[in-house]
Amino acid sequence: MRLYPLLARVVLLTLCGSSLGAQGAKGPDKTASLLTAIDAKATHYANVAHQIWGFAELGYQEVKSSALLQRELADAGFTVKAGVAGIPTAFTAEYGSGKPVIAILGEFDALPGLSQDTVPVQHPLVAGGAGHGCGHHLFGTATVATAIAVREWMIANKVAGTLRFYGTPAEEGGAGKVYMVRDGLFDDVDVAVTWHPGDRNDVQTVSTLANVSGKFRFKGISAHAAASPEQGRSALDAVEAMDHMVNMMREHVPQETRIHYVITNGGRAPNVVPDFAEVYYVVRHPDIREVDRIWARVQDAAKGAALGTGTSYELVVTGSVYNLLINKTLAKVQQRSLERVGGYTYTAAERAWAERLRQALPPSSIPLESVAQVQPYAADASGTGMASTDVGDVSWRVPTVQLGAATWVPGTPAHSWQAVAAGGMSIGNRGMIVAAKAMALTTAELFTSPATIAAARAELEAARGPHFVYTTRLGTQKPALDYRK
Ligand SMILES: [Zn+2]
Ligand SMILES: [Zn+2]
Repeated sequence: MRLYPLLARVVLLTLCGSSLGAQGAKGPDKTASLLTAIDAKATHYANVAHQIWGFAELGYQEVKSSALLQRELADAGFTVKAGVAGIPTAFTAEYGSGKPVIAILGEFDALPGLSQDTVPVQHPLVAGGAGHGCGHHLFGTATVATAIAVREWMIANKVAGTLRFYGTPAEEGGAGKVYMVRDGLFDDVDVAVTWHPGDRNDVQTVSTLANVSGKFRFKGISAHAAASPEQGRSALDAVEAMDHMVNMMREHVPQETRIHYVITNGGRAPNVVPDFAEVYYVVRHPDIREVDRIWARVQDAAKGAALGTGTSYELVVTGSVYNLLINKTLAKVQQRSLERVGGYTYTAAERAWAERLRQALPPSSIPLESVAQVQPYAADASGTGMASTDVGDVSWRVPTVQLGAATWVPGTPAHSWQAVAAGGMSIGNRGMIVAAKAMALTTAELFTSPATIAAARAELEAARGPHFVYTTRLGTQKPALDYRK
């Protein structure tokens, strides 16, 4: 769910220079085979990604997408374990044994209401249908490509260790990874490598927002809205009263806070007093402890609304994630890998397509040519990206690194039809291959550099502090497998 940081872009970007120079000084460069292996299968992976783009399956319903990625990995020689952490579409796929254990994280869920054809003007394929507005079809496919290439490289170079792919469903609000962390699936992992589609090639060096989300389900009493309204108690009134209180609360929360809601059920007919109504909330802040405090106040608003309207409610918590903990040790390795891979240049047809699409976006200062570049390493980045990801929970458990690649036309926001359009055609595929290669180089380097892994672990422990205990706000509850139904 990564979005580009609004606050962090004001920081001074500094180039890391020669300390991050190209590797391979000691003898023949054996990692070049990773790049050629991924290039050789680029058309195949474009096809896999396009199938998942077409499935456009929502969180926890990614049956076909998950099965396709599992099949790719199984065919390549991985041992697949499906249905982990109590989630039918979650899986792991493993190769090798012993230490180090390196995790590669893949996502594949789509978003509701974003159906879009691969054309540079808004044109849904299915009216009201789902679409890959966050590029998770590319996300899942690139990480599978990385895993397969690294496995082949490990065999060819007799590299020891465990390579484990994590198929992580329902990133968009379902917090799939959180259940996998909670259930101990990362307990033996040394480092985690992942990425996210975007409109530029860069390494993530700013955090994200922690959040909690849930559905408030109000129950009232139905009655004829004209003939006997005094006998009714409107559940919709309760939703409206709650929303009003929360909207006033916005003035009295820290300014980095984000609160959003949608009314998912507001009754069926105006002449029937609604006996059921539901509102779905998300609260975000950079610090999970502040999220806790604001979330408690949102629940107070629900209680007050129920009391004042003569209704009752229950709360179903659907997700909660930590902020992303940046690991600079790993980020520097990833930066070097990404710089070695580089960006790509649009063909004439891609450029014309991108220019047409840009007409449907607000003016952007980011040139189209920037897809050929890698953004400088933002060593002193501060601030927070104003979105959330369930990679956050993984990052508090094991050192984690995430890069971005230009799968969307520069200036494209995530969760837009423009992102779905570019993600479904060659621009998306080309960014995906950049990501797969850069992750493969990083993963290979980590397998052969225990000192880097040790430094990354020490950095994580210092950042968490001596008394840190990971506890998800989801407690012991089961995954909300129906949150998109
Ligand atoms: Zn997203
Ligand atoms: Zn996303």
